[in-house]
Amino acid sequence: MDIDGKSLADEWLQLTKQKARNLKCKPGIAFVLVGNDPASQTYVRSKRKKCEEVGFNSQKIELEQRVSQTELFRVIDQLNTDPKIHGILVQMPLPSQLDQNAVIRRVRPEKDVDGFHPINMGRIVLGDLSGPIPCTPHGIIKILEKYDVKTEGAEVVIVGRSNIVGKPLANLLMQKTNPGNATVTLAHSYSHDLPAICRRADILIAAIGKPRLITANMVKEGAVVIDVGINRLDSGDLIGDVDYDNVHTKASLITPVPGGVGPMTIAMLLHNTLECAQKASNC
Ligand code: NAD
Repeated sequence: MDIDGKSLADEWLQLTKQKARNLKCKPGIAFVLVGNDPASQTYVRSKRKKCEEVGFNSQKIELEQRVSQTELFRVIDQLNTDPKIHGILVQMPLPSQLDQNAVIRRVRPEKDVDGFHPINMGRIVLGDLSGPIPCTPHGIIKILEKYDVKTEGAEVVIVGRSNIVGKPLANLLMQKTNPGNATVTLAHSYSHDLPAICRRADILIAAIGKPRLITANMVKEGAVVIDVGINRLDSGDLIGDVDYDNVHTKASLITPVPGGVGPMTIAMLLHNTLECAQKASNC
């Protein structure tokens, strides 16, 4: 059966909209966009559209491709102290002259709606889930919860160890919480015999960025398959990391691409922004 990430995201957006109405302030988010990468432009556009739908203020700050780190820091510092801004999102990837980790550290942890700041990441590792949780892993947790997928004692295999998906998700699923308490394997490009590792999975999560890398022979009968990948083919079509056509009959549940994890990522971004606004002294 397909997991309907779009409907679940709509439920979350409605909830966020309702909760925002009870605040003294209007939640505000600033998107900082460096250069004119078309994919980044598209992502920011769709995130801002959702902000509008839930009644948040959103601001887009565009900086030149060759902007210096000092100038970018000046912009972030201004947003850090702006009471109308509760969330700051610096769209990645950044041009090579900028130190991505330093930029992540510059955003105040209480406005870090991406959940990438070391303080917020560290909290997750230590089992404190009260801060902003990275949006894609958080969306996946909410999907598992909604579809009553039992994670306790389950064999979870995550393929891909990025800071934005694989690592935080592995930490979330190994927490002493529900969802959580899973036996987590984090596989990557150096893993030996990936098909055998994947076949162990009750829950298989692909966050690789390689079209259809996960084929049917890598999936256990009845497994839950979460496809994080977004790959654009020359034809313009978007496809995931999983060979959906051959895997969906074998999986008990599977996220389609598009319409699976993607919409939940944006829904969790707005949820994080709402929570940052709720904690702000002026709201
Ligand atoms: P990344 O590029 O930072 O990392 C990819 C990971 O895949 C690495 O850890 C690498 O070791 C692993 N990998 C690469 N080739 C492999 C192979 N042959 N076998 C095993 N492991 C391999 O990835 P990312 O930023 O986490 O993104 C992964 C994919 O997810 C991309 O397609 C991206 O567009 C997509 N994504 C989607 C969302 C969403 O909201 N749906 C959010 C974030 C990323």
